[in-house]
Amino acid sequence: MTDAEQFRAFRFALDPSAVQRQDLARHVGAARWAFNHALACKVAAHREWRTRVAALVETGVPEADARCQVKVPIPTKQTIQFALNRAKGDDRTGHDGLCPWWHEVSTYAFQSALADADTAWANWLASLSGRRAGREIGYPRFKKKGRSRDSVRLHHDVRRPTIRLDGYRRLMVPRIGSIRLHDSGKRLTRYLTRTGGQVQSVTLSRSGKHWYAAVLVKSTVAEPSSPSRAQRIAGTVGVDLGVTRLATLSTGIDASYPNPRHLAVARRQLTRAHRALSRTQKGSNRRAKARSKVAELHHRVAERRGGALHQITKQIATRFETIAIEDLNVAGMARSSRGTMDEPGRNVRQKSGLNRAILDAGFGEFRRQLTYKTIWYGSRLAVVDRFYPSSKTCSTCGAVKLKLRLSERTYRCDQCGLVIDRDQNAAINIATAAVAAPNAVPAVPVAGDRPETLNARRAHVRPTLTGGQRALKREDPGCPLPPGPPRRSNPAALPQPA
Ligand SMILES: [Zn+2]
Repeated sequence: MTDAEQFRAFRFALDPSAVQRQDLARHVGAARWAFNHALACKVAAHREWRTRVAALVETGVPEADARCQVKVPIPTKQTIQFALNRAKGDDRTGHDGLCPWWHEVSTYAFQSALADADTAWANWLASLSGRRAGREIGYPRFKKKGRSRDSVRLHHDVRRPTIRLDGYRRLMVPRIGSIRLHDSGKRLTRYLTRTGGQVQSVTLSRSGKHWYAAVLVKSTVAEPSSPSRAQRIAGTVGVDLGVTRLATLSTGIDASYPNPRHLAVARRQLTRAHRALSRTQKGSNRRAKARSKVAELHHRVAERRGGALHQITKQIATRFETIAIEDLNVAGMARSSRGTMDEPGRNVRQKSGLNRAILDAGFGEFRRQLTYKTIWYGSRLAVVDRFYPSSKTCSTCGAVKLKLRLSERTYRCDQCGLVIDRDQNAAINIATAAVAAPNAVPAVPVAGDRPETLNARRAHVRPTLTGGQRALKREDPGCPLPPGPPRRSNPAALPQPA
């Protein structure tokens, strides 16, 4: 056992009162305004820099030199906040300003949004210069009401906590008050008592018509440094995520996780809701209503799926020593299978549809959860190369089939005569491959090797994800762009040299 700092989020559905709903909406609105304000400040400075570079290039200076000579600092949280504090105004005293209503919301609504804008800007720069792995991050975009996720993060002084449970069924949130929880807060209380953890922040968000609170807790927990006896005996398990079954384990069909019944029900309801939507006229009230019905159903499916995933990942991470999964290209899978004009996709109908969409969203999340839960529970995550033909290979003799249709649910080996469930065959192959090559994917390290753990962005994972003061690494503001043409997502309306 080693003591380790652990961050855990406890998410609750809320039952806010009508007044509290207004308060919540006001807070997410303020956060959105603050983010957009901060981003506008950054974009303005960036444009100024580009104008000056362009002017310098006009005089005959090579562009690469001009880019490094011109210095326009991109304002960060501190600068923006300082300027905002003088210009915000106050409608209580009749002083007009940028946001005279600021006193109606918690100051943290502004602060965390300004910090988020810094992060978005830093992420874009890091992605542009290749210091960030994963998909390319675009130029930070403004948040749009009704389009972007409504969310606000509130912090407090951990020595005098104002974010805390009020009994088992209510959550105290600064400025908004005691909000009733839809379910019980007992699991949070138990966790806090057991670990002596501290609440760091609460993120309030709206999804559909529902409000949620994610309470972030920091605690020092004894983490197992090695797998338990039971885990060692259970050994390695291969997991195959699928449409027919949620997760198939190499240990057998009985131990696997069937697709929950509610998905089938939701699918029928969704088909009906979509049909109703398509019958409505554009811009009508009925259309708006029908659209919110579809969104609500999608939201419900996502919520339940999320809950099921958490159960599965916890059970697998606690039961086995090594969990082997396939390294799936989630971004590639999520891409439409429709293809292009030149290269039309095949089996478009089979590949689209609800199950597919849910599945695509589930893979990345499944892996993310396993990554941290294996650390919590002393197990290990092994990721098998994505080009390994886990479905087409026979798990007994190793013969590889050239073709295997998606509709073939049973694997029949032509070489040794093995007849086995298609997904279980794949799961066994994944487990075998993980045993044969323990670190199949070195680029994204296997979890369990703290403190050298890297996240998917090749950044060292630090536990200050959302809590408290963050030491944001400042970019050299003098040369915000690497030399060479901008790669993409640059604001279209750039001042061009005349
Ligand atoms: Zn065989």
